[in-house]
Amino acid sequence: MTQETGGFAALDLNPNIVAAVLATGYEEPSAIQQQSIPIILAGHDMIGQAQTGTGKTAAFALPILNKIDVSKREPQALILAPTRELALQVATAFETYAKQMPGVNVVAVYGGAPMGPQLRAIRNGAQIVVATPGRLCDHLRRDEKVLSTVQYLVLDEADEMLKLGFMDDLEVIFKAIPESRQTVLFSATLPSSIRSIAERHLREPKHVKIQSKTQTVTAIDQAHLMVHADQKIPAVLRLLEVEEFDALIAFVRTKQATLDLASALEAKGYKAAALNGDIAQNQRERVIDSLKDGRLDIVVATDVAARGLDVPRITHVFNVDMPYDPESYVHRIGRTGRAGREGRALLLVTPRERRMLQVIERVTGQKVAEARLPNAQAVLDARIKKLTNSLAPLVADAEASHGDLLDRLTEALGCSPRALASALLRKATNGQALDLASVEREQPLVPTYTPRERGERTERAERPDRGDRERRAPMPLAEGRVRCRTALGARDGIAAKNLLGAILNEGGLARDAIGRIQVRDSFSLIELPEEGLERLLSKLKDTRVAGKQLKLRRYRED
Ligand code: ADP
Ligand code: MG
Repeated sequence: MTQETGGFAALDLNPNIVAAVLATGYEEPSAIQQQSIPIILAGHDMIGQAQTGTGKTAAFALPILNKIDVSKREPQALILAPTRELALQVATAFETYAKQMPGVNVVAVYGGAPMGPQLRAIRNGAQIVVATPGRLCDHLRRDEKVLSTVQYLVLDEADEMLKLGFMDDLEVIFKAIPESRQTVLFSATLPSSIRSIAERHLREPKHVKIQSKTQTVTAIDQAHLMVHADQKIPAVLRLLEVEEFDALIAFVRTKQATLDLASALEAKGYKAAALNGDIAQNQRERVIDSLKDGRLDIVVATDVAARGLDVPRITHVFNVDMPYDPESYVHRIGRTGRAGREGRALLLVTPRERRMLQVIERVTGQKVAEARLPNAQAVLDARIKKLTNSLAPLVADAEASHGDLLDRLTEALGCSPRALASALLRKATNGQALDLASVEREQPLVPTYTPRERGERTERAERPDRGDRERRAPMPLAEGRVRCRTALGARDGIAAKNLLGAILNEGGLARDAIGRIQVRDSFSLIELPEEGLERLLSKLKDTRVAGKQLKLRRYRED
């Protein structure tokens, strides 16, 4: 299926970049990539608006790699990202896409790590610098020339950077980069604050907006589950225990993911196969025929590879990785519910992808209800039901054919029929866990959380001050969380977003690791994970917020 790779090959990128992208397992550029890459290559400033998960990183990373001069060992591209976590992700993505371009150096610059080595890495020939604004400004204070060779500037997740209070830092950074630069801004939303930045600092920017048209979904039972990215395979395995499916298609984003999931499924005894753009046409047809006639029950596919796949047996569509847009979601789940059958569509959503779920709901005009991962009891019940069903057709006449043998064996073994039947069950079930304790042991609980719980946390973090003064009684803490206190409060000009920003950047925490933030007049309370607290506090030792030392301490309310 080589025509699919035409997508990237047709983009006028250096063949080494295309090769690395294809080796990563991408088959086709996403919409934002398709539209942004030519604009950035042509040297225009650009504003790109698209939801999380639409592939924005490659949309700027590929053309920038194409433009840098590898022989020059000085910073040429600067990418600003809101948090340490995102900066590291972007830096890693650059490294992946530059795998076949020797001499490319990428440095990530963020708080919570010593400054010296970062500055040295910049001076020692990194062409690409990925940074959080706060820490980059610290470097600028030490060396105001450090960005003077930058020609390409990207603001990634610009709306998030503003929410975290980086506006002033951004202005400092703009000033430190030559005006002849090319500037690209990506954001999920374009509030007026972002438009005003664009007006002041971008030159005749081209706009790219990935917007979705309304879609209609036929009667398919849809649900979503919140999982962390590294828990997807265990979550799928557990869901499959209780879902009663005939044939199932699981969608993932990359070739590697098709292979990983298909082999995890095979290891659990499912008849599963991978379908991706590397698979030759005749082999692809064999896979589809096998799914049709029941030699296979599960196919794990990328969108491209599943194109045109129409198998009436499919009762379930499993969106293991998010689709890029609502259209492809609707397209994917349309694989089930064919020929008047009942269909079911499940969607795994990671914390970063919540917004895409909302877009899907808005565009389809339907709620995708939240489901919970089945607990051990539900898994056990499902296993026993399957076992019962598999034995049901035998009990009617097995006694006639095997009853005498049973008598002989019980006599020879000197055991009761119950003992013998138990032994046969153990043998027939092949070591499968069939009591509650064993099922619990076998399946460590995959943590999930509801969007409602998460929504409450972020909302409070972003709109901190409302009601804080009234709500004096300490709220109960979530499990694994402790409360920390700083003597900085509203009278020091502190808002929750400043605290959140500082802790995210300097502490290197994921955003959902930080719980409620309460800003009072003369102090603030912040809920943080108990695990690793000592290390976190020592990382934050020298952190300043609004010009004052944060001095965060564990707070014991007694
Ligand atoms: P965004 O910045 O829009 O949130 P990312 O750039 O982080 O999105 O990409 C989200 C995920 O999609 C990443 O895992 C990335 O590797 C993957 N991805 C990006 N582009 C493609 C593509 N063309 N084909 C397959 N996977 C892709
Ligand atoms: Mg991104």
